This record gives sequence, structure tokens and C-alpha cells, in this order.
Amino acid sequence: MKIHKAYQFRLYPNEEQEVLIHKTFGCTRLVYNYCLDLKRNKKYLTKFDLIKELPKLKKDYPFLKEVDSCSLQNAIADLMVGFLKFEKGQGGYPKFKKKGVKESFRTSFVTSSYKDRVYENIKVDLKRRVIELLKLKEVKIRGYRNFDKLPGRILNATIKEIGTRFYVSVCVEEEIELPERTNNQAVGIDVGVKNLVVTSDNDYYGNPRYLDKYERKIKRLQQELSRKIKGSKNYIKNKKKLEEVYRKLKNARKKMVEKIVSNITRNHDIIIAENLQVKKMLEKKNNHKHLRKEIANATFSEIIRILKYKCLWLNKTFIQVNPFYPSSQICSRCGKKNEEMKDIRIREYYCSKCGLEIERDYNASINILNEGLKYYNN
Ligand SMILES: [Zn+2]
Repeated sequence: MKIHKAYQFRLYPNEEQEVLIHKTFGCTRLVYNYCLDLKRNKKYLTKFDLIKELPKLKKDYPFLKEVDSCSLQNAIADLMVGFLKFEKGQGGYPKFKKKGVKESFRTSFVTSSYKDRVYENIKVDLKRRVIELLKLKEVKIRGYRNFDKLPGRILNATIKEIGTRFYVSVCVEEEIELPERTNNQAVGIDVGVKNLVVTSDNDYYGNPRYLDKYERKIKRLQQELSRKIKGSKNYIKNKKKLEEVYRKLKNARKKMVEKIVSNITRNHDIIIAENLQVKKMLEKKNNHKHLRKEIANATFSEIIRILKYKCLWLNKTFIQVNPFYPSSQICSRCGKKNEEMKDIRIREYYCSKCGLEIERDYNASINILNEGLKYYNN
């Protein structure tokens, strides 16, 4: 089976290359914002229409010619993906990009041959620890020390600046062999704020304490930032620090989630969870952007994201059940509904009909398992 996998390296540009990277950020932002403005007034414009604007734009802004033209086309492609997501209800209306906020650009792999010489615009040499890119030429990289070469065909490379660091994420198409399924065992998982993950095997996975440390840091930096003048030197410095903490939090979260997922997938072939995207839409819109809630939601999405692709690669079945049925209110033994459980402060489930006493999230995970098995058997 062919899969897409990203390999992220730390990038060490020299001064000249750093200037060019910043220039490319600026150019892709200009193209993105220009096209967003066009699309706001003329909804019907297609990706092709917008790409046709590029030659004209290059005439008006000659500096656009200095950067990798593929990154400009990709900026338009990204904008179109944003609109598509918006139309499907999976995201908000695309916003204008701001300088210094989550800056990145992507270039796609192109190969051509001329007089027996094969030309490639993205080359990764892991022995010499360099990546060769159009315009930027050779840039030093670090990461994947135990690899001789990338295990597959390069599709694209994304260059980004997070905090004070540069990274390049190289997306590769890899051929993998699917492992045999082991036991056809199914497991239901409940995801929540109190217990991060509870399984129908009665396993609990909590949020590690070190994640709280990042939360406190983020809170402090956000408060500091709010007192600074927008766009000032100190503001930008503070913003970079904040990005740095977010980056660390994201990495720590990813590692934690990967551990949980590998634990869950090790002994099961069928993994069942709730569809959190639908659940989020059903929730009343009363969340005033609480940091804790924001971080919890990001963790939930990460769990589902990693479960999804790991199950695909490991030849497991991943089922997402509709959250319309009340998984925390139904007795997992006899099916009686207990409306009192709407109150999330009640941690112990008690069934007045069959006498079952069970931890709230554990009960929910069994219901999720049973509901998922209905999907699976149909
Ligand atoms: Zn019962």
C-alpha cells in the first residue's frame, strides 16, 4: 500500500538563505491575500483563474520573480483548500495572512530531464545532511540520523519558521506492507477532559502533568502579549516566545498521543471512537475560548488524527460512531437511560434497573464499543 508520510528536519539557513526564506514568506502571503481579496468579491473564480493572475501580479510586483514560483501556486492551492473546507462546514471563512504569524511556504517536487541529465528541484542528501531546493540551493538540515536516505518518493517540502527556528517538512510517498491482523478484538474508547482516554478494557490514560507546565507558560505569555503594543519589536519578540512554547506543547502532546495509540492498537484490530467533529458541532456555542478547553480540543483531534492513520498503516479498522445517542447516559448492561448523568460532575454511574455501578467514562466506552460493533457487523 502507498502512504504519505512527512519527515520534519530542523533547517539551518545561512544569512543569505534566511533573507530569501523571509522574502518567500512575504511573496506567498501577498499572493494568498491578493487572491483571497479577489475571491471575496468574485466567488466563482477557480484555482485555474487565480493562477492565471500570477503573470500580471509579477509585472506589478517584480520581486515575486525572485522566489520559487511553485510556492506561489501552492499558496493559491492552499487558499482553495481553505474555501473548500469552509463550504463543507469543516472550517471558518479563510482569513488574511499576517506577517510573522505561522509563516510557511510549500514547494512541490518537479523532475525533468535534459540531454541525459535528470533535474530535480528538491533533493535530500542525508549523508551530507543537506536539502537542495530551488533558489535556496543547499541548506543544512538535522534529523533522522539513522536514515541513509528518505524511504520513498518526494512529493513536496514545506519550509516554516516557528519561534526562532526554521524547519522543513518533506512529504514522501512510501510503499508499505500491511501487517497481518492479529485477533479481530474490538475496543471502544471514550475521550474526555477528566480522563483523557478510557477504554472498554477499563484502561485509563490521563493527561501528564508536564502538559500543565506549558499551559501555565502560555497563559503568562499571552497576558504579557496583551499589554504590548501590536506590531512593536517587543510584541514580535513575545509572540515568537509564545510560538516556541506552543511548538513544545505540540511535540509533547504528539509523543504522548502516539504512545496511547500504540498501546491501544497493539492488542486490538477494531478501534471505535466517537465522531468528535460532529460532537463539537452539537455542543452549544458557549465556549469563550478557554485555554484549557482549546488545549483539550487540540488533544482530542490529535488522538483521532493519529488513530486514523495508524489504523490505516497497521491494517486495523477504525470506526467513528455518531455521538447522537447519549453514550454517558445509557446503562452499558441493560440499556436503561439515566438522565441524571447529563450532569458531568457525577462520576459514578448507577443503574436503578439492573443495579450496575460503574465509572462514568468506562460505561460510556462500553456503549461506544457496542454501538461501533453494530456499524461493523452491518
Ligand atoms: Zn442497567
